[in-house]
Amino acid sequence: MRERIRVLVAACFYYAGLVKLAYWWIQRSGPRLVILNYHRASGGDLRRHLLYLRRHYRLLHLEAALEELSAPQPADKPVRERRIPLVLTFDDGYHDNYTHAFALARELQVPITIFLIPGYVQSGEHFWWLEGKRLAQQAQVDEVTIEERTYHLDRPGEREALARAIDSRLRYAPSVTQREAFLLTVRQRLGVPGELTPEEEVERPLTWAEVHKMQESGWVSFGAHTMHHPILADSQEVQREVQECRTVLEQQLGHAVRTFAYPVGKPEHIGEHGLRAIKVTGYTWALTTMHGTNTRQSDPHQLRRVLGDVSRHWLVMAAETSGVWHLFSPLWKKKSAVSAERDIAYLTKPVAPLAHYEQN
Ligand SMILES: [Zn+2]
Repeated sequence: MRERIRVLVAACFYYAGLVKLAYWWIQRSGPRLVILNYHRASGGDLRRHLLYLRRHYRLLHLEAALEELSAPQPADKPVRERRIPLVLTFDDGYHDNYTHAFALARELQVPITIFLIPGYVQSGEHFWWLEGKRLAQQAQVDEVTIEERTYHLDRPGEREALARAIDSRLRYAPSVTQREAFLLTVRQRLGVPGELTPEEEVERPLTWAEVHKMQESGWVSFGAHTMHHPILADSQEVQREVQECRTVLEQQLGHAVRTFAYPVGKPEHIGEHGLRAIKVTGYTWALTTMHGTNTRQSDPHQLRRVLGDVSRHWLVMAAETSGVWHLFSPLWKKKSAVSAERDIAYLTKPVAPLAHYEQN
């Protein structure tokens, strides 16, 4: 849907009172936690998002919110405490989480949680999922053969095809070593340096100095997101990626790290190995990217989130966060009966176990 129409529909929902109605419905359906899932913090209007969320929801750090969800609920809460609890999470740890999200969190006094990839914090390298596009765009050669296919980069569409091929190989690499070796070879063949240009700085990973400064402020908490962001279901290094990440983060942060976010985060990216590794490593809570909110019955290792996108208008974000957007989305999306059913379940049902979704 084009952005203008999207905003128009969201405005109709908002001004017709449907967002408020959905909010009221969630509120009366028992203790429920909304967790928003952002990545980048720049390139949109995060300030408007935060101002709206701060006005309507009770914003908490992730661990505090999850502790509260599992604790016995007092019968008579003050009015302010009755607002729906909401957590803002940012995956991957982009530099703009420091320059934009942290700056706003401090100014507006809003807690946020960032999921870090320590391997990238240490190396400072460009995240692998951004490399396919960057390498294809900046290639210094007219012709290159990768994976037995030759790309003529002066022809239309060939750079996009090359970007897709590189991305696919990086995505399904069985080990970090093989992924890094492939990246090195491709960079050399295309004549593109590994170092980022000043314009790409905003996409670089956070540094430890930035992480420590954010932690000291009290407005930012951190969780684990593996050492190098492999797709756990396809990786041969699941346990190491999950365990080492926790160890390094605990050394850097000086306290126990109990929360984890699965890379990419749909059941097909997690797999049974991923789920088992999280439990073996002892993470108390793990977050997926499956859409929905969480109740006391939710599986603590398969918590759901609502996609947050800073480039979206705040009205769209308001409709998505309340659940009303997904309730109506079958009307304009060609969706299977199963997925439409899941969207409606967003408002009413607890999370089903992972195996259920793998069958779909
Ligand atoms: Zn990620």
